Amino acid sequence: MEAFKPHLSGLTAYPYKKVEAAIKLDQNESPWDLPEDLKTRALERMRSEPWNRYPDMHAEGVRALVARWLGWPAGGVVVAPGSNFLILALAQAARRVLDTSPSFAFYEGAARLTGTPYRGVPLDPEFRLPLEEILREMDEGEPGVVFLAIPHAPTGTVFAVPDVRRVADKARGRGWILAIDEAYCHFSGTDHRGLAAENPNVVLLRTFSKAFGLGGIRAGVLLAVPDVAAKLQAMLPPFEVPVHTAAVLATVLESAHRAAEVGFRLAAERDRVLAKMAGHPTWRSHPSRANFFLVRTPDAEVAWQSLLDRGILVRRQDHLPGLEGCLRVSVGTPTENDAFLKAAFDSVTR
Ligand code: PMP
Repeated sequence: MEAFKPHLSGLTAYPYKKVEAAIKLDQNESPWDLPEDLKTRALERMRSEPWNRYPDMHAEGVRALVARWLGWPAGGVVVAPGSNFLILALAQAARRVLDTSPSFAFYEGAARLTGTPYRGVPLDPEFRLPLEEILREMDEGEPGVVFLAIPHAPTGTVFAVPDVRRVADKARGRGWILAIDEAYCHFSGTDHRGLAAENPNVVLLRTFSKAFGLGGIRAGVLLAVPDVAAKLQAMLPPFEVPVHTAAVLATVLESAHRAAEVGFRLAAERDRVLAKMAGHPTWRSHPSRANFFLVRTPDAEVAWQSLLDRGILVRRQDHLPGLEGCLRVSVGTPTENDAFLKAAFDSVTR
């Protein structure tokens, strides 16, 4: 593979092992598929489009719909087949990438893939933002892109508003871009559009994969000032949003309040499960504002297998720094969550 760039030599595919289980709580998806009437409408829309023709060259139609939905200027909206592609574009554009550790793995993955220098600053033991160290890092050397998922993944923490504002101010002062990833914002009620509207160095990422229940459709959004959006748009290959994805988005955006309702329902379920988990004899659940939570067990391997033996698939996170013994549990339907709770209390992992 001498033809390939040296920085790719150690690169391996994003690690994920597919495991069959009756109850799937391992990928932070919505447990509810799109209702049948919406699927029918989306399919009708898709049928009425010519499939032999390319879609919009730069997803103009979808971007206009998203702009109207989010109250954002259309010139500042970029839509891609999953926010992962927007993370990749940001990492590719960046002189360097700054992240928290642990974090959503693809920030580092995208940096490695694009040969961009990367640094992950450890969260404190309570998973709070290491503000001073991030600010210090931003003061040193050349600027780049700093990723903050809010709510944070995989901890579920929402960072304090004044702290985020200080990172945003530093980004503006030092020429950084602060990318706030709001993948889970429907479950926390947090919204940084105000901050992004007043600070041109802040960009936001949103996804249709979570509260909208469209993980399989692949669509993510970036909101930025027009010149930043135009640069990232130019980095995407043309025709990035296919006809079928555009048809589904146009349909769900006719009733976008559904995502808010899913957000409320799953947040209420999360709080119910966490309240019950507080009584677990050996597993310690961490507070979360997302549609998942971390639970620290005496032995992650044993706990994971014990849940799987009872038909429940969750995600191990114990390979990440500071997350020894931790499993990540997505919030499912009330029935699925009850099954998880029963399995958790039945599990003997002392
Ligand atoms: N950001 C975060 C924080 C995520 O957890 C995920 C998916 N798990 C993504 C982005 C990727 O979203 P998408 O499906 O839009 O690529």
